[in-house]
Amino acid sequence: MTKKVVLCCEKCGSRNYTVPVSNQAQAVRLERKKFCSHCQTHTLHKQSI
Ligand SMILES: [Zn+2]
Repeated sequence: MTKKVVLCCEKCGSRNYTVPVSNQAQAVRLERKKFCSHCQTHTLHKQSI
C-alpha cells in the first residue's frame, strides 16, 4: 500500500511533484532535488504536510 506525498520547491513553494511512498510512518520528510519550472533551475523540493 502506498500513498502520495507532494513535494514543494523550497525556494518558491510551488507544488511541482508527487511521489509515491510506502504507507509506513516516515521519520523524516522527503527531500529531492528536482527541476522547478518557476525557478527555471533545479532546487531542493521538500515534502509538504
Ligand atoms: Zn521554485
